[in-house]
Amino acid sequence: MVRAPVYPLAQQLIQTLQERGYRDTAPRRALARVIAGKDRHFAAEELRNELPHLGRATIYRSLKLLVEAGVVCRVLLEDGNLHYQLSHRGHHHHLLCVECGASQDLVGCDVEGMLKQAAALHNFQLNGHWLEVYGRCQTCVAKDEASPAQVS
Ligand SMILES: [Zn+2]
Ligand SMILES: [Zn+2]
Ligand SMILES: [Zn+2]
Repeated sequence: MVRAPVYPLAQQLIQTLQERGYRDTAPRRALARVIAGKDRHFAAEELRNELPHLGRATIYRSLKLLVEAGVVCRVLLEDGNLHYQLSHRGHHHHLLCVECGASQDLVGCDVEGMLKQAAALHNFQLNGHWLEVYGRCQTCVAKDEASPAQVS
């Protein structure tokens, strides 16, 4: 019997689902493989198009689980769309390029202390925060400098 290769990253995603009590089924394996092959953030709908035999509920449930496990993170785009991408485990933020859509992880968090102070000031019990940073990536900035926008 020839088994389709399971890439290490896909294997890690499957393992995460298993640890959470999800059976290792062929559809989930396919889902893990598609997610593992993504090199940029993606919409849940994209997964639906690529895996038409998978139900909407299965995709959303699996994504939610993977997010909770910390192996996939949610990315809020500037236009309000919610995307997903493979995650470095642990708390971090994203630098999102509004021009090409590139996303870079900003590891390490400098705002935690400031938020703790602000929360204490309001007698507010802090649970967490979510911060996305929008702008233009190195490549897009360099492209503009190479060919300055035409002045009309
Ligand atoms: Zn992330
Ligand atoms: Zn860019
Ligand atoms: Zn943070």
